[in-house]
Amino acid sequence: MTVEKILKGKNSVVATVAADLPLSDVCALLTERRIGAVPVMDGSTLVGIISERDVVHVLASHGAAALELKVGDAMTRNVKTTTLHTTVVQAMAAMTAGRFRHLPVVEAGRLIGIISIGDVVKARLDEQQYEVENLRSYVVGAA
Ligand code: AMP
Repeated sequence: MTVEKILKGKNSVVATVAADLPLSDVCALLTERRIGAVPVMDGSTLVGIISERDVVHVLASHGAAALELKVGDAMTRNVKTTTLHTTVVQAMAAMTAGRFRHLPVVEAGRLIGIISIGDVVKARLDEQQYEVENLRSYVVGAA
């Protein structure tokens, strides 16, 4: 299974923010959309990603004043991305190696989606279930 198949089952509108947005607004967006991270854009260019973990880090270092900081003060700039043809297992390996739970999907330099560890685990479970059912019907059919 590929990232393309995961995206087909998801909302095609990707929430994004600009680097000059106050962190308090990002908290509101993450809560409202029930998501854990959001890509940061400069026009159509992906320039970072900000996750709930980044918000926790700046709260720990700045206290309540952190909420007056901007997204650009807390985001990760070196974003790892994936493509439509990446397999679920490869995406899972990238998340494990990089210790993050989100992967923006980029094709031809354009952000077209984002997948989370939850999407990847669900896809992998579906894939395994499909394999088990195929093997079961093969065994039963052969008996
Ligand atoms: P997460 O586990 O996705 O909440 O993110 C943990 C940390 O990794 C945070 O500092 C994020 O900004 C960063 N992060 C999340 N996704 C990525 C990514 N695709 N590439 C690089 N860093 C990321």
